Amino acid sequence: MSQFLFVTDLDNTLVGDDRALAELNQLLQQHREAHGTVIVYATGRSLPLFRMLQTERDMLEPNIRVLSVGTEIYRQGDSPDAAWADLLSHRWDRDRVVATTAHFADLVPQDASEQAPFKVSFHLKPEPAAYVLPELKAALKEQGLEVQLIYSSNIDLDIVPVRSNKGAAINFLQKELGITGDRTVVCGDSGNDLSMFQLVKAKGIIVGNAQLELIDWHQANPHDPDGLPTRYVARSHCAGGILEGLRHFGFI
Ligand SMILES: [Mg+2]
Repeated sequence: MSQFLFVTDLDNTLVGDDRALAELNQLLQQHREAHGTVIVYATGRSLPLFRMLQTERDMLEPNIRVLSVGTEIYRQGDSPDAAWADLLSHRWDRDRVVATTAHFADLVPQDASEQAPFKVSFHLKPEPAAYVLPELKAALKEQGLEVQLIYSSNIDLDIVPVRSNKGAAINFLQKELGITGDRTVVCGDSGNDLSMFQLVKAKGIIVGNAQLELIDWHQANPHDPDGLPTRYVARSHCAGGILEGLRHFGFI
C-alpha cells in the first residue's frame, strides 16, 4: 500500500449512499494518515454550495477542492489558486460571453451563487439543447471567443475558458504534486466528469448509477490518453461503486 491521488466528483458519485460513504471515509482517512494519500473533490458546485453539502453530509475534509467545474482550485482557506486563475484568464472575456448568450431564450441563468469569474452557468432543457448547443457554439466562435461548453445531467450548461475543465485542473495538480497516472484514480457519474476520464492519465471509476451521457461516451472511447483500457464501470452506486473500483485496482 502506498500514497495515491484520489479524485472524486461529489453529487451522485461520492454522495448518494450514506452507509457506503461512511465506509469509504474510514478507509480513505486511514490511508491518508498512513500513506499521505491526497483527497481531491472535483465538483460543479461553487464554494457556497460546496459548504452547504458539507453541512448536510458526513464528508471528509479534502486536501484540495476543485470547484465550479474545474475553474477554481482551493487548498487551505477560501482564496482560489492564483497560478490556475492566471492560466485560465488567457483569452477569456466573460462580459462578451454573457452578451452573446443573451440572444438565446432557452438559456435560463443559474443562481448568482453559481456564476463565477471563469464560469457562466445556465439551465437548459434537453429538447432545446439539441439545437441550441450547436447554434450557441457557432455564435461564440463567430465572436472570436475561445470557450468550452459543458452540458451535464441534461440540465446544466457551463461556459468556461477553453483551458478549463475538471480534467485540466487535475492534470495541473498531478504535475504539481508529482503523482503519476498509475497512482491516480478519478471517479465520476456524469458529463462534467468526462474530461477527467478523457484528459487525465489515471485509473477511472464510473459509478453504477452513472448518466447515460457518460456511459455512452465510455463505450465509444474505452481507452485512456495512453490508449489503455484503464476504466472500471462499477455495479454499485455512488460511494459503493467507488469502493468496488478502488478494490478492483488494488488501491485499498
Ligand atoms: Mg455528479
